[in-house]
Amino acid sequence: MPAGDGIVDADLIVVGGGPAGLALAIAAALERLHVLVLERRPPPLDKACGEGVLPPALRALDALGALDLVDPADCAPIDGIRYVQEDGVSVEGRLPGPALGIRRLALVDGLRRRALALGVELRDRCTVFAHRRVDRGIVVETDEGPRAGRLLAAADGLASPLRRAAGLDRPEARRRRFGVRAHVRLPPWSHFVEVHFAPGAEGYVTPAGRDRVGVAFLWEPDGASAPATFETLLDRFPAIRERIAGAPWDSRVRGAGPLERHARARVADRLLLIGDAAGYVDAISGEGLSLAFGCATELAPLLPLMIAGGATAESLRPYERIFARHFRRYARVTGALLALSRRPRLRRAVLDALHRRPQLFERLIRLAIDPGSPGPTVLVPSGRSFHLERA
Ligand SMILES: Cc1cc2nc3c(=O)[nH]c(=O)nc-3n(C[C@H](O)[C@H](O)[C@H](O)COP(=O)(O)OP(=O)(O)OC[C@H]3O[C@@H](n4cnc5c(N)ncnc54)[C@H](O)[C@@H]3O)c2cc1C
Repeated sequence: MPAGDGIVDADLIVVGGGPAGLALAIAAALERLHVLVLERRPPPLDKACGEGVLPPALRALDALGALDLVDPADCAPIDGIRYVQEDGVSVEGRLPGPALGIRRLALVDGLRRRALALGVELRDRCTVFAHRRVDRGIVVETDEGPRAGRLLAAADGLASPLRRAAGLDRPEARRRRFGVRAHVRLPPWSHFVEVHFAPGAEGYVTPAGRDRVGVAFLWEPDGASAPATFETLLDRFPAIRERIAGAPWDSRVRGAGPLERHARARVADRLLLIGDAAGYVDAISGEGLSLAFGCATELAPLLPLMIAGGATAESLRPYERIFARHFRRYARVTGALLALSRRPRLRRAVLDALHRRPQLFERLIRLAIDPGSPGPTVLVPSGRSFHLERA
């Protein structure tokens, strides 16, 4: 299959072997496309993440056939969300369906194993540093030489070098937030994700394994104080510090940011953006994986036709609509939570009101994160794994 000046290696070349790239690779392979994933780092692939896999993301993971490849020792059920104010007053609500805290290493490992089983070609330690369009395809330059495909998917994360190279970057947001996380070896004390508030920062506690708790912070530098570190952020959350005191660390500290990134468009000729590369607002709603998996699973069935149509920007246009639908809802919810986090008095008043009306809080959670829930589902442990069943 010549692609202008060479041989086509794959129908779809995915740059970035994180959750978004792997989910798209799996979903495309299920559509019988030949997929090549290029990832610049060697496994195991870790990253700063709160590791909450919320109900829509968990359903997608199950539908992709990857959930039962994730080691259950690296998972912990999440039943709900608990917001904790500075004075210790908390409001909690149950999630509308099963969710898991999944250690990032285990999530990516499960996705990789599923991709490999479907015949996806995974190239690690393979950096893409340029791309160019040829007659009926696209060629990427890598440190292993050129690779050619019909369509290129940039799943290369928040900073997305490919988005920038394609001229699709939008200027950085004025207000900059950052994230950082580490794990402690400790049996989770709760099946709820705890979100602790302090002025200018939030602390997230997520069960992420039988004997592991993830602690993440999101914050906005105030410009005056010294740069924040995991330790200085932990000092701002004495309740979290007290809970994890004495527990051994289970991972290196990892950070990410600035978090808010936008693209001018998600599609161009023979190129599409997915995952954080396509646009991201903030991690406060814990929805990055839901967004990435939702886009990947809806897009994939359209790919064979799009590629047959030359993968032009015009033939890829339906993906722009899929993305917009998922992103609008995510951006609305995330924007609302950010607005509350930035206004402590308003946030206290709203959480105090919800504390008195827990059912309203649960309805809001359902509408915010899972409006398209297919109905009651249960998480079933099966042998050495989990799967989902309709209740
Ligand atoms: C602190 C924090 C907490 C979060 N908490 C949650 C949460 O609880 N739940 C949730 O759903 N989401 C959460 N998120 C968001 C979630 O982590 C992201 O949305 C998700 O990781 C996006 O995956 P991705 O595959 O798009 O990007 P990434 O995971 O960043 O993967 C991109 C990959 O591309 C590779 N790459 C980059 N450039 C190249 C290149 N030139 N060539 C080859 N490879 C390349 C990188 O090495 C990387 O492996 C959180 C984020 C942060 C920062």
